[in-house]
Amino acid sequence: MTYQIKKAAVLGSGVMGSGIAAHLANIGIPTLLLDIVPNEVNNEEQTKGFSLEHPAVRNRFAQTALQKLLKQKPAPLTSKKNLQLITAGNLEDDLEKLKDMDWIIEVVVENLEVKKSLYEKIDAVRKAGTIVSSNTSGISVNAMVEGRSEDFGKHFLGTHFFNPPRYLKLLEVIPATTTDFEVVEFMKKFGEDVLGKGVVLAKDTPNFIANRIGTYGLLVSLREMQARGYSVGEVDSVTGPLIGRPKSATFRTLDVVGLDTFAHVAKNVHDLTTGEEQKVFEVPAFLDKMLENKWLGAKTGQGFFMKKEKEIFELNIDTLEYESVKKLTTPSMEMAKQQKGLSAKVKTLTYAKDRTGELLWSILSPTLLYSAELHGEIADDIVAIDQAMKWGFGWQQGPFEIWDAIGVNESVEKMKAEGLEIPYFAHSLLDKGFNSFYKEENGDQYFFDGNDYKIVPVNEKVIDLKRYKKKHGVIKSNAGASLIDLGDGIALLEFHSKSNSIGIDIVQMINFAVDEVEKNYKGLVIGNQGKNFSVGANLGMILMEAQDDNMFELDFVVRSFQNAMMKIKYSSKPVVAAPFAMTLGGGAEACLPAAHIQATTETYMGLVEVGVGLIPGGGGNKELYMKHLKGLPNGVQVDYQNVANKVFETIAMAKVSTSGEEARENNFLNFADGISVNPDHQLYDAKQAALSLAEAGYKAPIHEKVPVTGSPGYATLLLGAEGMFLSGFISEHDMKIAKKLAYVIAGGEVPYGTLVDEQYLLNLEREAFLSLVADPKSQARMQYMLVKGKPLRN
Ligand code: NAD
Repeated sequence: MTYQIKKAAVLGSGVMGSGIAAHLANIGIPTLLLDIVPNEVNNEEQTKGFSLEHPAVRNRFAQTALQKLLKQKPAPLTSKKNLQLITAGNLEDDLEKLKDMDWIIEVVVENLEVKKSLYEKIDAVRKAGTIVSSNTSGISVNAMVEGRSEDFGKHFLGTHFFNPPRYLKLLEVIPATTTDFEVVEFMKKFGEDVLGKGVVLAKDTPNFIANRIGTYGLLVSLREMQARGYSVGEVDSVTGPLIGRPKSATFRTLDVVGLDTFAHVAKNVHDLTTGEEQKVFEVPAFLDKMLENKWLGAKTGQGFFMKKEKEIFELNIDTLEYESVKKLTTPSMEMAKQQKGLSAKVKTLTYAKDRTGELLWSILSPTLLYSAELHGEIADDIVAIDQAMKWGFGWQQGPFEIWDAIGVNESVEKMKAEGLEIPYFAHSLLDKGFNSFYKEENGDQYFFDGNDYKIVPVNEKVIDLKRYKKKHGVIKSNAGASLIDLGDGIALLEFHSKSNSIGIDIVQMINFAVDEVEKNYKGLVIGNQGKNFSVGANLGMILMEAQDDNMFELDFVVRSFQNAMMKIKYSSKPVVAAPFAMTLGGGAEACLPAAHIQATTETYMGLVEVGVGLIPGGGGNKELYMKHLKGLPNGVQVDYQNVANKVFETIAMAKVSTSGEEARENNFLNFADGISVNPDHQLYDAKQAALSLAEAGYKAPIHEKVPVTGSPGYATLLLGAEGMFLSGFISEHDMKIAKKLAYVIAGGEVPYGTLVDEQYLLNLEREAFLSLVADPKSQARMQYMLVKGKPLRN
């Protein structure tokens, strides 16, 4: 049987249910969101004269959840418009509608009896073949499906999303013994390709993979902190980015998750385990006290941290008083910072003979041993365990990768000396004469499966550039960028400068890449796998030249950048840009002229130059204007002023999209550009896009003249800015920048509708850019951004 999910129902509209419904709406699936019927009318409903029978009352829970989706931060919706795809209802009046659904996902309270009784009702109405899944954090899927019909059993499984569902990558898929193999396979593929998740197959054991090991690690951290006398802030200063974990480290993570949720998850494993393991899952007395006091973290305003009058305090777990935040600073932390690469840093810290080393070793060693003990029980291989921890908890390395980093032999010796028991799985690795859980050979990765090394399966849709370069080398490289052969006739231009900022080396590589592709390839992808696509032009270099009054040099730089952008645009072979995360200023300008943009759901794109006292200088003003014009349907009477107004507003307000979809709404992407839901698939999708353009007989666009709004347009653009200036909303310098920007977008002093050359517009832009660069107030803005990382309003 083949499955397709065209319509879905989410049952339960709480924290997770509403987030999952939003995620489904984001990818275009119409979703029914149902919750229980309230048992009394509230004051507001009473004033409106509504009785318990009124639909607004009966749908209140789901309806309220929908409204919350618009206000939540970080935003669960990639565009507010997506809310229209979700219909609110209730579990009594709308149950019948479940018969039309392809997927029903249950997200109600974590209670076996409540879930089972709901499944009984679903079983009575669902059509054969409908997939039903539970978002349970840890209840046994086999226990939940007990008593259900055969068809229900075949189509039932666990689909465990992490909070918040739009942003956290992990999806654990947990089959029951009754689940059809095809359903599991379908869900894995659907989870990866359509939901855009990192899917891990987990076994039906308490709390599955990530929460089992993650909760264990957190409880060990609490235990060791107390036993060894560390403070909350001290633990966080070690267990965050320093060791490749999120900034929220241990305790801010717990505050965000909610201590009640955390205690609940811990209790679940506690109740299902015995002996020493069970003891670890016992929550410490101070946490019980915090629960009693309702110090549950962010949701109740205080937990391990509390914010008071802009200052943050940490909880002293002995006195339960809030104190100033303490941080650990030790020699090993300084030493680690000098090391290159996360593995070397973690190794230095773990064996350090100071307070950092003591804490880290005391937390890491039991967590690594526990992970090895669970191998085979919670997942079939270490790859699944490592991926689950990385994708569910935002760790940069999973437990077995960490173990390799600190050296398996060395650490096991130390563990043994401390009387710790080494699990069979770790033993067998060393007994066979191996010393790492993973190894790399010729760019391929292998993992230890308990017996020997097996190759880590290669997913053709996941192109890992680091590994790819190791295996296939590069065509050409300089300090800022490399050109790589991606195979099948497609080359890839990768930025790899600091923050991927664009300097003259990247410009040179763009020129080389286009020439090389025109000669020897079918198409070019501009993409990378850094933290951000690009934060913009190299501001430090621009400021330095400006302060030295090197205007001739700056003119050359801007001209070269503009020319390289034109080269991308008029390449005879298709160029596909693959922006993701922060794609700002020059980064966005490098995408706009491409034949196609393949963004990701999380693309934060904008021309933000005004924030540093400038306007876009690499053709961004012209390209955004032209992209806007091109996006309009053929044959309509075009109001150029309208287009100019929108472009002016977007650039003058330095608007940055909060998603790929919003980038499209802001006209950085047009209807034909693509958005990859799974960021790991982006380069593959971009390569496919380049290939299909090439195969469809791609030709370079013809140089067309651009209709501009001219002098009347300039005056109109400035109307709003002048109003803001007169009422004191913007400064004199803002007004100066606005005038320059308006002049460039309007195309200077020509009549409305004049057709001008692109080069004429580029010249206007370059002149405006250079005059602003020379202005001391703009230089102050650049300096402030470089030093403080935020814009200066002067
Ligand atoms: P929540 O408390 O925010 O929402 C629970 C929902 O269940 C509410 O909409 C509530 O109205 C509904 N409900 C209550 N009693 C019910 C009943 N008798 N019948 C039907 N519905 C009822 O909880 P949540 O955090 O969204 O958790 C929902 C599920 O997701 C749980 O199974 C939980 O373990 C799991 N989960 C939670 C998280 C998390 O971080 N919160 C993460 C992963 C999985």
